[in-house]
Amino acid sequence: MLSVQNLHKQFDELVVLDGIDLQVNKGKVIVVIGPSGSGKTTLLRCLNVLETPTKGKVSVNNMELDFSQKVSKKDIQTLRKQTGMVFQTYNLFPHMTALQNVIEGPVTVQKVAKTNAQQKGKQLLEKVGLGDKLDYYPHQLSGGQQQRVGIARALAIDPEVLLFDEPTSALDPELVGEVLKVMKELAEEGMTMVVVTHEMNFAKEVADEVIFMDGGRIVERGTPTQLFTEPQNNRTRQFLNLIN
Ligand code: ATP
Repeated sequence: MLSVQNLHKQFDELVVLDGIDLQVNKGKVIVVIGPSGSGKTTLLRCLNVLETPTKGKVSVNNMELDFSQKVSKKDIQTLRKQTGMVFQTYNLFPHMTALQNVIEGPVTVQKVAKTNAQQKGKQLLEKVGLGDKLDYYPHQLSGGQQQRVGIARALAIDPEVLLFDEPTSALDPELVGEVLKVMKELAEEGMTMVVVTHEMNFAKEVADEVIFMDGGRIVERGTPTQLFTEPQNNRTRQFLNLIN
């Protein structure tokens, strides 16, 4: 499904990803945790080439992009259509309604007929509990509602995998639950997901695999039980002690 081989990313002299290997099988949920600056967001952004990896390979389904060579824009576009991204700060277009935000990708990028995109967009907004907010603009919605529009928008391109970059970090505490609930439902329906989050309870309940990153590397990986109750690595233990 999604795989990453020996992925590196450098910003000038700063090595941010230092040889990441990752395999995400269909229907699985991978949660990525780690201290600030460990490279979690950069890893996600490399997975759909919002950042260009310095070297390494990213494959989705049977398409492989090898960043040791020049990668064509067309291949990057094809990969992006298979990876829906949910951002920490929602990134909705402020001048568009919830429905317009959701159909923007299918209509402009995938050239889906507007009426079909609208029909599907409505279904997706209903799915995330916003069937009565189709014509609301982002500023008329709470943070949790905006993030749920963000999830509907990411789903609108029918991605193979959904990537979540700290989707609840910008929310007031009382709004976190409604977003996590939608994410749990998607996981239960068999959506393949990679989630960067500080929500350890979500990781414990929903993840098939938890990955602990530090210094641009995967230091430890395992089931939630393995990682949270029997961490093998000192750095994992220190991190978990700090956040508990
Ligand atoms: P956090 O939990 O705080 O979001 P993170 O683990 O997601 O952190 P990243 O955002 O991936 O970490 O950042 C990793 C390192 O890369 C940091 O030192 C950051 O300053 C640096 N970095 C990220 N993006 C850029 C950029 N565009 N240019 C230069 N340095 C960058």
